[in-house]
Amino acid sequence: MKELPPQYNPQAVEEPRYQWWESRGLFQADPDPKKRPYTIVIPPPNVTGILHMGHALNNTIQDILIRFKRMQGYNALWVPGTDHAGIATQNVVERALAKEGKTRQDLGRDAFIQRVWQWKEQYGNTIIYQLKRLGASCDWRRTRFTMDEGLSEAVLEVFLKLYDAGLIYRGNYIVNWCPRCQTALSDEEAPRQQTQGKLYHLKYPLEGQPGTFLEVATTRPETMLGDTAIAVHPKDPRYKALIGKRAVLPLVNRPLPIIADDVVDMAFGTGAVKVTPAHDPVDFQLGKRHQLEFLNVMTGDAHMINVPKPYEGLDRFDCRSKLIVDLEQQGFLGPIDEHQHNVGHCYRCHTAIEPRLSPQWFVKMKPLAEPAIKAVKAKTIRFLPDRWTKVYLNWMENIEDWCISRQIWWGHRLPVYYCQSCPEGKNILVAKTRPAQCPSCKGDDLKQDEDVLDTWFSSWLWPFSTLGWPKRTKELAHFYPTNTLVTAQEIIFFWVARMIMAGYFCMKRPPFTRVYIHGTVRDMTGKKMSKSLGNIIDPLEIIKQYGTDALRYTLVTSTAIGQDIFLSEERFTAGRNFANKLWNATRFALAQPEAGKQRAAVRPDTVPDRWILSRLQRTIARVTDSLEACLFNDAAGALYDFLWHDCCDWYLEIAKIQRGRSREILLHVLETSFRLLHPVMPFVTEELWQHLRPAAAKSQASIMTAAWPKPSKRLIDDKTEEQFELFKKVITAIREKRAEWNISNDRKIPTVWLVSKNTAIRDFLGSQQALLKVLAEVNTVTPLEPKAFHRQNDVTTTILDGVQVVIPMGGLIDVDKERARLQQRVNELMQHVSRLEARLADPQFTGKAPKEVIEGAEQSLAQARETLKAASEHLAVLQAM
Ligand SMILES: [Zn+2]
Ligand SMILES: [Zn+2]
Repeated sequence: MKELPPQYNPQAVEEPRYQWWESRGLFQADPDPKKRPYTIVIPPPNVTGILHMGHALNNTIQDILIRFKRMQGYNALWVPGTDHAGIATQNVVERALAKEGKTRQDLGRDAFIQRVWQWKEQYGNTIIYQLKRLGASCDWRRTRFTMDEGLSEAVLEVFLKLYDAGLIYRGNYIVNWCPRCQTALSDEEAPRQQTQGKLYHLKYPLEGQPGTFLEVATTRPETMLGDTAIAVHPKDPRYKALIGKRAVLPLVNRPLPIIADDVVDMAFGTGAVKVTPAHDPVDFQLGKRHQLEFLNVMTGDAHMINVPKPYEGLDRFDCRSKLIVDLEQQGFLGPIDEHQHNVGHCYRCHTAIEPRLSPQWFVKMKPLAEPAIKAVKAKTIRFLPDRWTKVYLNWMENIEDWCISRQIWWGHRLPVYYCQSCPEGKNILVAKTRPAQCPSCKGDDLKQDEDVLDTWFSSWLWPFSTLGWPKRTKELAHFYPTNTLVTAQEIIFFWVARMIMAGYFCMKRPPFTRVYIHGTVRDMTGKKMSKSLGNIIDPLEIIKQYGTDALRYTLVTSTAIGQDIFLSEERFTAGRNFANKLWNATRFALAQPEAGKQRAAVRPDTVPDRWILSRLQRTIARVTDSLEACLFNDAAGALYDFLWHDCCDWYLEIAKIQRGRSREILLHVLETSFRLLHPVMPFVTEELWQHLRPAAAKSQASIMTAAWPKPSKRLIDDKTEEQFELFKKVITAIREKRAEWNISNDRKIPTVWLVSKNTAIRDFLGSQQALLKVLAEVNTVTPLEPKAFHRQNDVTTTILDGVQVVIPMGGLIDVDKERARLQQRVNELMQHVSRLEARLADPQFTGKAPKEVIEGAEQSLAQARETLKAASEHLAVLQAM
């Protein structure tokens, strides 16, 4: 083994080490009936994806779990892959085409899809390479893509199964429509945003009663061109007499029946509403109940059709402006109010949604939801943190049918064919491949549906389609159901809930047993990281500057379970410093002289030896429990405390004094702790472990497959821990006095008395004299009974539990000099305090300065007063000497 270089250089270590692991097949898992499986499927990032901090967090957590379980001896499989991301990917390629001045229509469907595949080949693996830089130990042989052959087969299979079960249907429906992407969107894909709009009051003349109007209010005046009724509440006294009569649509002169329906809110606007069944979801239901005409007045890209000439072909918003002018001129316009309302926006391009009537395909969700609700209620599947259980159940119990057709080109095309010779409604064929002929008329003029399936219609099969379903593979039998799903809250409905439903429908078993929902990555002010805010921290930049381990360590220590993460770039220095500390500690341990020829079994001889081994056992138990419970910050924090404080601050210093067996114990403690730390910081731990590993390990051994440590109850020693705590406190007390009294570090304190009436404490501290003397830099340490101790004036005392640490100051400091120094310091502080007081009493300042400045001054004053108090007290002690 080569010697450890003096400094840790993650850039030199990480990439070669990753290749070393990968080339030895250490990430691979194959079905093995002798081993217990542990499986995670990656939430497939979009092929268009670039690694951001959210991915870094999500995949670090998965990698921690997989590495932990692998070391515990499980057959640990992490299945990677990417999602074809229908609309997102199509948009990317369309934008590229636009730069060449072309549209997808110019290319035609087949050529466009080819173009997307080309794009995928060229750029689609970016995120995979980036996940490797993160250290992800996925079985890359098993990388899947939601449009690959096997997964496409799974999509067809489930579509047919659902169709045969009567759970897929086609219907005219009001859908969320993005006029820019020209496709239907599910409710989850069209999140509502508070939007400042206007509420327009329009006056509709009553038929046969010149000069009388019914006033209605709308936020989208252009939809009036599609009105086919006016609705009022049946009990509204203002309109009772009008029910059954007719109004006239202004500018168009179409008569509109006045209907009564409970859905109308009497308190909103005037209590009368215009009804546009083809362009509003509530009006759609009204239209169905009252058999109204469904008049479609907009094209897919939101231009007006089926309307009078002056408006024909106008964009929806241009039409709105023109209508307002025309209505005003002809006396049909009432007041226009400012109005806040929620408008759905396309989650891909942020265009305002237009509700639109169109033929779409749906999945009936209620029957699928039933077993998925039961499983979570019965805790067959658990959410972590538990608060998501309620959110999930609430959504599932009110689930609506899922619109699965999308009017785009990139995706799984619907396996639906329409016979052109048979009558509409009776001409639908559903089949995996194009049927040769129509079974009823035997004709062969079959046209495939133009639509593709929602992207989530392939990813909801991910936990079993990636393992080979619908084929009954060995992988499926061994690795399904998977264990923990690690994901973000935004996709609980999009993805997690649907996977549970698909799992029960296709496999009759849950897709996973635990769902860990992690928080959102934010900046220090709590804002979500986004390009437009310019507050993004790029994980690849952090890896370059601080190393992957630093990135991973800081991410997991920055969040409690399920809580959001607040990041600034400086925080990553903590991770880098920790890696450096471990490096230096290992170099130190290896440089210690060896006690014997052979490395014997670790045998503790002294109190510090027994203490560090006892602390190690507790750390093993704590880290193991924390990782089992997904308390990642707790596991990393426990290791930091143990390694940095117990091990480096204390034991390492003691080892310098003890020599002998300390080296063996130190090496054992480091080697064991690095195994515990490996899942969080895989690179530095492997690098150091290669220098520390037991002599019995094979030359090609890796920490990745070393056994997970188990705590030894025999080595847990409460009494020793208690004694050592006291030992630490005594040393700390002496060091604090040294700082307080300004005694330089190269000057030894002549003597320290440890006064205690407890014989056991005196005996113990007496037995540690050699260590105490070196660590506290004292010439003699004398335990004393209280009666043997004669109180003197020139001493300084620290009272600890069970013992008083007494330092005689005579001769240690030059009392006169120290008194003069302190007196000067007190004077300075008094001046400082009065300056601040005067400033804060000055109305010129308090009246004009910003609030933060005044608060800052108040804080400075409080702090200065405190320092002054401490210095004065100290001076009083000196003056008494
Ligand atoms: Zn859009
Ligand atoms: Zn036919």
